[in-house]
Amino acid sequence: MTQTSTAAASLSTSAPAAQPIIVARDVRKHFGAFEALRGVSLTVGRGEVVVIIGPSGSGKSTFIRTLNALDPHDGGTIEVDGIPLDGARHLDEIRREVGMVFQSFNLFPHLTVLENITLAPTRVRKTSKAEAEKRGLELLRRVGIEEQAHKYPAQLSGGQQQRVAIARALAMDPQIMLFDEPTSALDPEMIKEVLDVMKELARTGMTMLVVTHEMGFAREVADRILFFDQGNIVEDTTPEQFYNNPQHERAQAFLSKIL
Ligand code: ADP
Ligand code: MG
Repeated sequence: MTQTSTAAASLSTSAPAAQPIIVARDVRKHFGAFEALRGVSLTVGRGEVVVIIGPSGSGKSTFIRTLNALDPHDGGTIEVDGIPLDGARHLDEIRREVGMVFQSFNLFPHLTVLENITLAPTRVRKTSKAEAEKRGLELLRRVGIEEQAHKYPAQLSGGQQQRVAIARALAMDPQIMLFDEPTSALDPEMIKEVLDVMKELARTGMTMLVVTHEMGFAREVADRILFFDQGNIVEDTTPEQFYNNPQHERAQAFLSKIL
């Protein structure tokens, strides 16, 4: 995995990571009267791979959406690579730092694969079209679908579309990649090709937060597992500890259902 994995694995939410890249303190988020995040604190070190699991509705998506300011939090503080998430001022900066991949791919259907990838670099980063296309093709090669560059998303399989979505996020040269159940909408035979791309990304030292219930991936790639329940992190531990000896009763119950 990463050079920092050994050190990172022993971190808990309260211990400051060496070279922290995400520092969230007492993060809260309401939807009307409902409190979806109830004081989440988390420090993630550069290069760490963090897998987030937990029951449906426990706040996993809400939390990672606050980390790139897709949803504003309404209590606590978040800093990403030293940039505070405190309103519109830093939004563009944060979105450049943090790439996100969703369950539903979210590709632009009217643009080719390559156009999907070059859109943000040319518009936001002001990269030249030629440079963006060169880099886009490199990224497509990296995710194994260079030959699909001129097709439209609907002409690709789900696994291929998700690999395009990963390449598109990487095209902005993010420091952090967030994944929200990236394989949940895929047919079983396509899950591996997406997980393999994510494993490769982890090997390069990318800081990654991944909401997934893919246990093989979590055991093999994660430095750290967070278990969410009712809007908070109730367990923050190593994969070995989590799968062999979960401490929290809700984590035990959850594991007994999915393993
Ligand atoms: P998870 O990803 O762990 O399944 P979510 O973060 O999506 O959970 O949701 C946490 C809770 O917040 C759920 O009870 C959900 O219904 C609620 N919630 C999420 N987004 C919204 C929203 N936009 N409006 C109202 N409630 C929401
Ligand atoms: Mg979710």
